[in-house]
Amino acid sequence: MEKININDLSFEELENFIDELGEKKFHAKQIFKWIHREKVLSFDDMTDISKNLREKLKERAYILELKVIECQKSKKDGTMKFLIELPDQNAIESVLMKYHHGNTICVSTQVGCRMGCKFCASTKEGFVRSLYASEIEGQLLTVERYTGEKISNIVYMGIGEPLDNYDNVVKSIRLINYPLGLNIGARHISISTCGLVPNIYRLAQENIQCTLSISLHATTDEKRRQTMPIANKYTIKEILDACKEYIRITGRRISFEYALINGQNDSREDAIALAKLLRDMIAHVNLIPVNEIKNGVYKKATENHIQEFMDTLNSMGVVTTVRRELGSDIDAACGQLRKKYIDKTDEFAQKKYIKIDE
Ligand code: SAH
Repeated sequence: MEKININDLSFEELENFIDELGEKKFHAKQIFKWIHREKVLSFDDMTDISKNLREKLKERAYILELKVIECQKSKKDGTMKFLIELPDQNAIESVLMKYHHGNTICVSTQVGCRMGCKFCASTKEGFVRSLYASEIEGQLLTVERYTGEKISNIVYMGIGEPLDNYDNVVKSIRLINYPLGLNIGARHISISTCGLVPNIYRLAQENIQCTLSISLHATTDEKRRQTMPIANKYTIKEILDACKEYIRITGRRISFEYALINGQNDSREDAIALAKLLRDMIAHVNLIPVNEIKNGVYKKATENHIQEFMDTLNSMGVVTTVRRELGSDIDAACGQLRKKYIDKTDEFAQKKYIKIDE
């Protein structure tokens, strides 16, 4: 019989699994804690569980272990970028950022991405598969284990489109939320999407209080289509209508990501159009000076343009900030490290089985 990945079970599924093993359900509490809070990697470390149950668990299940293939640390701000290997040897990225309010991790949700945004490195190597909930939550367990740091905030902004892996993403949020596990409140979690409209409506109904971030990056459908293929499927109006419903049901403010690209979307007219679009919503705009990717055609907007853009929005009543560029001396833009990894697989292959802490 194939062993099951015990990390992928919700608490209720774990209870049923223990029941199936002919054991008392209350052991699920102990086991969930060992896996998701204590982050153990062996059933033998579950010291308050009988040897008999441990043996049964070993026979039927395994504990997911993700390996750190490479870790880069920024000398400027301490941002750490991890290249993480999945059990099937695919690689994903996670980034740990330090702010005064705590440590934020940026997690991947898929191996590659199907959305095809032209400015994004994650999309360049195509799409391989979606991550399991345990592989998403596992990025937190792995990074906490590796650094000894406690993570307090999560942004779903790494490789992949979260709402294109809807069920696993929602399940991962519930795993991360669970009081016996990492116990991180949904208000500390942000989900970023390029705008898969039907799933925004679904997420609104989940009774999860997470923040929603929309990657808007343009103010007209025509312009949006130039950089984001998803704009051929859903209009900005459809996205904003879904956002209004999300706000109505959850009471949460929405954050709009806008990557400023020189000559593409950074004019004063663009700023005015953006303010008009968002004026009547509880919204916040996050301006991101576009990260120039290798062989990419898009260039960063100038400092002056960025400042002017922000001032225009703020003066029209739309709260706007510029995202601090963290880890600019490492490959911190999403997908860049994985891309480099694939481009140089031979070089990495030699390193692959070296132990993490060497
Ligand atoms: N697929 C999701 C989340 C992943 S990307 C989404 O589209 O929202 C996280 C954010 O980084 C998105 O807003 C994305 O558009 C943006 N992004 C991607 N590549 C970028 C780049 N080169 N420079 C600046 N922002 C970028």
